[in-house]
Amino acid sequence: MLNPHKAGTPAKTTPVVVSTWDHGLAANQAAWKVLTDGGYSLDAVEAGVRVTEADPEVRTVGLGGYPDASGEVTLDACIMTEAMDCGSVAFLRDIKHPISVARAVMEHTPHVMLVGSGAQEFALSRGFSKENLLTAESYADWQRWRAQGERPKDINIENHDTIGMLALDNAGRLCGACTTSGAAYKLHGRVGDSPIIGAGLYVDGAVGGAVATGMGELMMKTLGCFLVVELMRQGASPGQACKGAVLRIAEKLGDYAAFQVGFVALNCQGESAAYCIQPGFSYARQDQRGAVLYQSEALLGEAI
Ligand code: ASP
Repeated sequence: MLNPHKAGTPAKTTPVVVSTWDHGLAANQAAWKVLTDGGYSLDAVEAGVRVTEADPEVRTVGLGGYPDASGEVTLDACIMTEAMDCGSVAFLRDIKHPISVARAVMEHTPHVMLVGSGAQEFALSRGFSKENLLTAESYADWQRWRAQGERPKDINIENHDTIGMLALDNAGRLCGACTTSGAAYKLHGRVGDSPIIGAGLYVDGAVGGAVATGMGELMMKTLGCFLVVELMRQGASPGQACKGAVLRIAEKLGDYAAFQVGFVALNCQGESAAYCIQPGFSYARQDQRGAVLYQSEALLGEAI
């Protein structure tokens, strides 16, 4: 059920897309094509993150993602528009493009979020097909992990890489998407921040948007992306706002230094920035000047 109200009066802008991590460069290219064809930023973010979802080399999103502790790949995703419409799926299995299922939840149900077998049944009813998402490589890694005594992996450098994407189109509409297979070897049934509106993604079409990656529990406890957008509403730049959300985590959560968290924000003027806990977080930006991969500023010293 789509929101009949406009969230703000978008100004004409030049398009821009930003997304998390190095794999954001390839995803941005697909989004950029939609934007430069004059398309809607919602179509751009969906097309963009679908590239990452379909790439078996990206081991933390969609096809080929690390499984949970029981050996199953379970996916979380959400999508949000400039008019505050949103859709989300969590604990979704055997469907390669959870972002498109999240969009279908937004566009074809009165709900925001579907989970588990209900989300899968809904996807099948919308024409999505089931496929095995556990690649031979991810299965072999999982078997090695189990042989080591089933210690959960820390979320630091190699073990996470959600794609979160924000795009502003030339009509001034800002939309966002976020999709992940979540923390590697998580407990069966665990859902992270990525499908939670306000935690893994938030957009206000009159202000800007934010996406998050890293240890989802920290974003869930602080509603990090909502906070980033609210700080921008109060006048913070995207960089100040992302830093504000990381500082909130550091102030409130005693164990923050053991984890990685990164935020990327884009405001309605097309300005973007990132901030993270540990060095090593990158974000990709594509605009009319070209494609750039930025290293985020970090709260702490050397990479863990
Ligand atoms: N935020 C994701 C989660 O906690 C993982 C990540 O971004 O690395 O599920």
